[in-house]
Amino acid sequence: MVSNHNLADYETEREQFSWDEIYAEADWDAPAELNVAHEVADRHAGDREKVALYQVDTDGELTKMTFWELADRSSQFANVLEDLGVEQGDRVFSYMPRIPEHYVALTGTLKRGAVWGSVNERFGPDGISYRLDDCEAKVVVTTTDNRDTVKDALDDAPSVEHVITVDRGGGAPPDDVVFNTALDGASTAYDAAETGGEDDALLYYTSGTTGLAKGVLHKQRWVAGVAATQKYAVDLQPDDLYWSTGDLGWLTGAINTLGAWFWGASLFTYEGEFDPEEWADLLDEYPITVLFSVPTAYRMLREKEEVLADVDLDLRHALSIGEPLSAGVVEWGEDELGVTILDTYGQTETGNMIINNYPTMELRPGSMGKPLPGIEADIVDPETGEVLEPDETGEIAQRGDYPCFFAEYWQKSEKTASCFVDGPDGEWYLSGDLAHKDEDGYFWFEGRADDVILSSGYRIGPFEVESSLGEHEAVAEAAVVPKPHRERGNIVKAYVVPSEGATPSEDLTEDIRNHVRDELSAHEYPREIEFREELPKTVTGKIRRTELQDEAAEETEASS
Ligand code: ATP
Ligand code: MG
Repeated sequence: MVSNHNLADYETEREQFSWDEIYAEADWDAPAELNVAHEVADRHAGDREKVALYQVDTDGELTKMTFWELADRSSQFANVLEDLGVEQGDRVFSYMPRIPEHYVALTGTLKRGAVWGSVNERFGPDGISYRLDDCEAKVVVTTTDNRDTVKDALDDAPSVEHVITVDRGGGAPPDDVVFNTALDGASTAYDAAETGGEDDALLYYTSGTTGLAKGVLHKQRWVAGVAATQKYAVDLQPDDLYWSTGDLGWLTGAINTLGAWFWGASLFTYEGEFDPEEWADLLDEYPITVLFSVPTAYRMLREKEEVLADVDLDLRHALSIGEPLSAGVVEWGEDELGVTILDTYGQTETGNMIINNYPTMELRPGSMGKPLPGIEADIVDPETGEVLEPDETGEIAQRGDYPCFFAEYWQKSEKTASCFVDGPDGEWYLSGDLAHKDEDGYFWFEGRADDVILSSGYRIGPFEVESSLGEHEAVAEAAVVPKPHRERGNIVKAYVVPSEGATPSEDLTEDIRNHVRDELSAHEYPREIEFREELPKTVTGKIRRTELQDEAAEETEASS
């Protein structure tokens, strides 16, 4: 077990707050006048020492940016946008690594009152142009390293008028605006645009796990809800050093960046990709107190836990989002990270984490926790809009009257409307995710509605089976899908990545199958197991079950 300096503080905090108090305190009406950039940067600029961003590049070099510098730099960026003719509401998109300029562009765009969006660097030209063209973006911010990819994308994104390029060597094309030169020549005076809570602020695309990514529009009021989540779910304190590993290319990155700064906490970011050893070194070297990541990263750290052996951790909290977090990983975290990894649930549409495990709450490992104070979320029958009883499976649903809740899928009113169902006591937004709650109101994730397996008359959620598989020592990772079957409708098929040192064999297959049959249930165990070196994933690391499901269906077809 690793040392943990602050576990005692953490215990004290747990005593200080009660669940009921949190609910009673919850109040997040967004004011009529609200500018996100003002809230996150300018408000803290008076303190010239306080660091907003600690950025470590791929060579391990540290760059610091204070709130004062962030306020100044973002004002310069806003001035540059204004000079380029970018108006309030115009879309500005980034395609760049986790470097300080990225965070300046984000804040500066919001200061100008323009709408910020971002495309993760793992996308190629088609992924970029799809998003830029869909929302008719006017400006792209990028780096010289990415400039050729952007060039290819621009052929199919005619709305883009300007490219602002950070010169990281090699020089930018002559028509580009060069980031540092342009900012250096711009004034640091800029009054944040007089936006209101209902003005457009962010346009983020979903992960595209189930199909084409959707552009999700959020208003300036979004920051009020985000602030609440960071306070209650993340328990963020102004002296925290907050490493949210999510890229700004996804809404989670923006949530945790802007949410941290709202409370004046320092953000930590690492330019490089996930690497267990690298991450362990960073956790050792920097006094990171809150780590926010994804289940894949925790699973991979578990696979390589020897890297944590001599690491001196300062963690108060670790959190997870994006995919289900199994009880096994939570238990591993308690032993090796010294903290309970708190699972949080949210969607690009819900705008932040709406169902969470709170540090103040008694946890049930494997559960997603409870709705955020002030949010009305429940398990609803998607056909009738009725709230279901404990233990009944339905869709996770939310009422829409929350500042973080999305305004619309970008200019797709029909698609937006199709997410809602009218129930006997009002309208619910349906998430497309299946879960049930227990007698005490804890939510338990079962799977995406599209991923549910119908087998011999049973409805089987893949997550429970995958968690059980994950508890077998020879299983590093698993994905479970339906495979069409003549008599049973479908059977459960598991794709398994073996742990290091495990060798696939018929005996092992049998052993894993028996493990799930004995530990979980006699009707949910995978009748077929196929070993794979890796599983197909989205760029965010989410398992793409749809792809495996297609493969399984083709197998059945070929054999019949
Ligand atoms: P698309 O909507 O394009 O298919 P996506 O739903 O993966 O992609 P996101 O908005 O990034 O796009 O992800 C939200 C989804 O991630 C949720 O609907 C849910 O399926 C999954 N998810 C998020 N957090 C959790 C969690 N804690 N447990 C289980 N699933 C989660
Ligand atoms: Mg989705």
